[in-house]
Amino acid sequence: MAIVGAGPAGIYAAEALSQQSDVAVEVAVIDRLPVPFGLVRYGVAPDHFSIRSIRNTLERTLEKPSVRFYGDVAIGSDLSIAELRESVDAVIYAYGAGTDRRLEIPGEQLPGSIAAAELVAWYCGHPDVHPDTDQPSLEDHLVAAAIDELISTSRHAVVVGVGNVALDVARVLIKTVDDLDDTDMADEVLTSLSRKNITDIHVLGRRGPAYTTFTTKELRELGQLADVDVIIDPADLELDPSSQAVVQQNKVAARNLVVLQEWAARPLSGASRHISFHFWSRPTKIIGNDRVTAVEVERTMINSDGFVVGAGRRPTLAADLVVRSVGYRGLPLPGIPFDERTGRVPHAEGRVIRDGSFSPDEYVTGWIKRGPTGVIGTNKSDAVETVTSLLADVHDGAVQAHGRSGKLDRLLAQRGIKALDMPAWHRIDAAEIELGVSHGRLRTTLAHRRELLAAAEDDHRPM
Ligand code: NAP
Repeated sequence: MAIVGAGPAGIYAAEALSQQSDVAVEVAVIDRLPVPFGLVRYGVAPDHFSIRSIRNTLERTLEKPSVRFYGDVAIGSDLSIAELRESVDAVIYAYGAGTDRRLEIPGEQLPGSIAAAELVAWYCGHPDVHPDTDQPSLEDHLVAAAIDELISTSRHAVVVGVGNVALDVARVLIKTVDDLDDTDMADEVLTSLSRKNITDIHVLGRRGPAYTTFTTKELRELGQLADVDVIIDPADLELDPSSQAVVQQNKVAARNLVVLQEWAARPLSGASRHISFHFWSRPTKIIGNDRVTAVEVERTMINSDGFVVGAGRRPTLAADLVVRSVGYRGLPLPGIPFDERTGRVPHAEGRVIRDGSFSPDEYVTGWIKRGPTGVIGTNKSDAVETVTSLLADVHDGAVQAHGRSGKLDRLLAQRGIKALDMPAWHRIDAAEIELGVSHGRLRTTLAHRRELLAAAEDDHRPM
């Protein structure tokens, strides 16, 4: 079996395959990046240590005798989907949601307006946002340089969206660099953050406080930051009948509301930095000439059909930085069925639907299957559903063993593609720990692909 994507979705699928004994399997977990763990490395906020430590569990799965990691192999370019399918008996797509949703408002593309996906990738040290100096993509260089410049020149930021990513972004942007020094952030990220002077962050929710999608533990963290006041207008927290119904049925919404109400009632401490929540507020225009200077905001309400509609103007917010944190979106990979409308691979219980019928050897799991929702653990049950379908199809004879063991390795060797394996990952891991310790930290992320590849070499010496 091959699994495309070595993030939590793919690794949980490998775990489900390796834990059963009905069918003897060899599992190749393939990733275009030199390192495994996907969003656990490149999405979970660096100051969320316990969530990041899920990596240890994922690593144990990749170490199992029936599982092999193939890093730095891009499916769709190094190998086509057709070639991969011919090299194994079945494929599970687990390549996640690679881009951000759009706001579709004027000014969205102005310098100073960035997607949370880009900012998160930047502060987690993702090689796509930290290009090698000899890498040709001008766009990649622009993104990296622009974020560095924006971080060091902004005072007022607007974060659009009230999900967990919005909270991560607000927290990382408002924390001081000293608060972040115990993380594994790359040196160049910490250097940028040390020049940061952001004093005010405005978080916009287009619906009321009952409709937030963040979790209460993550929300509470904002109220515990030193020298930061959280500001909420109590009028924003009044509940209309539909919000009351939501709060009665949804325990997380009810708990979030209690935290927000506590903050709205709390006297301000005179802190030097502020996070302000604005509910029933959505941006209608991002203002600026060659850079964002402000965000025009509209008051909103939910109409009788349940849609969010405009209900008049709110004060315009001054901003040098706008972070659009309105969710991720899946991208098509050449050769894989894709539903443009949902941004997902069409499937039923994990069985991929190709040209209107089940494809005999293709499966899907994770965000590219169900959309960008849920916490990391959600991927475990999702993977179990997909692997259960796959194993049932093996029993029914729909998936057949073609005796293709070793075929993938031969194909890669013919192409001159050298996949990075788990020993290579351990060398990268050791290099990151060594670099961190040399700066008095636990570890430091290597953000550039060339650094990762150099560290992966057998004869690697510390940089
Ligand atoms: P999310 O939870 O879907 O939140 C997206 C937010 O954007 C929602 O508040 C949504 O509001 C808003 N939004 C969407 N379109 C908008 C528009 N056009 N204008 C204004 N607002 C808009 O997504 P996410 O925060 O990117 O997180 C993705 C997933 O990762 C979630 O399942 C999240 O829980 C998970 N995650 C978990 C953690 C953690 O456990 N610590 C950390 C990070 C991420 P509506 O509800 O009105 O659509």
